[in-house]
Amino acid sequence: MHECEYSRSMMCLSFCCRFEKGRIYTYIGEVVVSVNPYRAMNIYGRDTIEQYKGRELYERPPHLFAIADAAYKAMKRRNKDTCIVISGESGAGKTEASKYIMQYIAAITNPSQRAEVERVKNMLLKSNCVLEAFGNAKTNRNDNSSRFGKYMDINFDFKGDPIGGHINNYLLEKSRVIFQQEGERSFHSFYQVSEGLTAAVTDAMKVIGFTTEEIQTVYKILATILHLGNLKFGSDGDVTLIENSKLVSILGDLLSTKDENVEKALLYRTVATGRDVIDKQHTHQEASYGRDALAKAIYERLFCWIVGRINDIIEVKNYDVRVHGKNTVIGVLDIYGFEIFQNNSFEQFCINYCNEKLQQLFIQLVLKQEQEEYQREGIPWKHIDYFNNQIIVDLVEQQHKGIFAVLDEACMNVGKVTDEMFLQALNGKLVKHAHYTSRKLSPTDKNLEFDRDFRIRHYAGDVAYSVVGFIDKNKDTLFQDFKRLLYNSSNPVLKAMWPEGKLRITEVTKRPLTAATLFKNSMISLVENLASKEPYYVRCIKPNEVKSPLLFEHERCKHQVEYLGLLENVRVRRAGFANRQIYPRFLQRYKMISEFTWPNHDLPSDKEAVKRLLQSCGFEHDVAYGKTKVFIRTPRTIFSLEEQRAEMV
Ligand code: ADP
Ligand code: MG
Repeated sequence: MHECEYSRSMMCLSFCCRFEKGRIYTYIGEVVVSVNPYRAMNIYGRDTIEQYKGRELYERPPHLFAIADAAYKAMKRRNKDTCIVISGESGAGKTEASKYIMQYIAAITNPSQRAEVERVKNMLLKSNCVLEAFGNAKTNRNDNSSRFGKYMDINFDFKGDPIGGHINNYLLEKSRVIFQQEGERSFHSFYQVSEGLTAAVTDAMKVIGFTTEEIQTVYKILATILHLGNLKFGSDGDVTLIENSKLVSILGDLLSTKDENVEKALLYRTVATGRDVIDKQHTHQEASYGRDALAKAIYERLFCWIVGRINDIIEVKNYDVRVHGKNTVIGVLDIYGFEIFQNNSFEQFCINYCNEKLQQLFIQLVLKQEQEEYQREGIPWKHIDYFNNQIIVDLVEQQHKGIFAVLDEACMNVGKVTDEMFLQALNGKLVKHAHYTSRKLSPTDKNLEFDRDFRIRHYAGDVAYSVVGFIDKNKDTLFQDFKRLLYNSSNPVLKAMWPEGKLRITEVTKRPLTAATLFKNSMISLVENLASKEPYYVRCIKPNEVKSPLLFEHERCKHQVEYLGLLENVRVRRAGFANRQIYPRFLQRYKMISEFTWPNHDLPSDKEAVKRLLQSCGFEHDVAYGKTKVFIRTPRTIFSLEEQRAEMV
């Protein structure tokens, strides 16, 4: 067996043992690995919170709360922005983890019960409920699967109490509005609206501060989408018709616009040819395409608008730095993990690129931070080999040569460009790239189809992508006529969602940015943002496909260990030190286990005392002494110290 395989196997065995004992959290250095227990655990209550509050990481059994506490402490003590990055595949427990983290932070802050802080905390927690209604859906992997990436900043005042927040959302899976795989559903919101406006979500929206008019518009938009789904086109000779034309007047009502405008936007497209502006009739196919694009676009716009409204409401208000001191931030990132499906398309490509970016950040930050600390503390650092995935990040995002650039270029073409032509262009540009291949480039690779597939060697494994739909999804065309239709609605809330509908056809000159470019830009700014903060990591593992609390599938786990880069994680940690503590703190905790330090020491410094203590326990070989901190190489030493301590107290 390959050495890595073996190590991953061993790692899974230990996760499995812990899982079976109900110990779902494990540390790798300061990274917490979480295995989804698929059952209610009695470990998130008030008493547990109290146990972790203000404690150091290794003083208590591994827990999410400890990471949340570490991020909070670092922010408060050192006035530094921190972030918690949660990753893992769908159903692994990311969103639950992010909620527990928020709950923990809410529970340990605002001891003086200031009303304003209580209000802010309540808003932050409530906003989750609204986001889940509109952004989550039942999938085959998870009954409450988030279909968007979420990054949330929580702002704190100088006392460490939350005073506001901000949410960024990434790549909503809007295609779900018009199509769901067998056994899956559309976004929760649609079922809530058809069940007659359930109180759950409406209340949350009211509490957060949505107006009645806004809430009504939200429901009208959902109803619009449901009706669009029933709209059928037919033809009479060359003429495209709407078969169930009764729907047109329903849509007109819902969108607060004239029926004939709705009909026209569905059947015609206004085009400028030179100086003339003409109405060109859609073919049957174009009309259906337009209808679907409209349904997807208004849902996506609605979702972004909701996020925007939540942000208006939760943003920090009346904060004066001169009075209140620096305002610091904890960011929580709950974003889709690496995806390998039977059929991988544009969405998986974007998601996997996102994971490459985050992996790159992880490598840079972990190494960078470690290196900096060793330098500061005067500890020699020996370089460690690891796979640097920058080459794959470049393969995707590089200007001119990268896959996104080639795709954008194909989409810029005036003539009809097909997905196959895009694939040919890729083959031409990337013929020598070590992480790219296709059937044309390696003809013996029978798993790839000619004219359809390309394969990327990701840091987490090989993924074959089908180019079918890449061009369409990247262009993401919504006919201008629809934008004008919605902008001209007499419903001011709806109108405000579509500002670009203001432009007349002759004024529209700029092409909208492509989906790939928008996604790339949002990823670059996300990573810049995370890089400016001190990161903490939660890696979530899904033990089985059947949501069972009893089953731990070894192979599945091993695969996740691989693509979460946990082994690399351990290696980087091993090259360095698992644990570090300032001398007085270390002494405080362990002085009772050595006669030289208990109850007091007579050595010239705490540093000398710690040396003496570790010598007497026989751990000399596993530690290094920095200027202010003692560094301990393996977790085993810490565990052993903890055990000895437990025997004494
Ligand atoms: P993800 O966001 O990674 O797709 P979720 O956080 O939605 O996954 O978790 C999927 C499901 O797994 C949850 O609905 C819940 O039933 C279960 N689950 C996840 N984490 C926990 C946990 N810590 N305790 C109990 N159940 C959990
Ligand atoms: Mg989720």
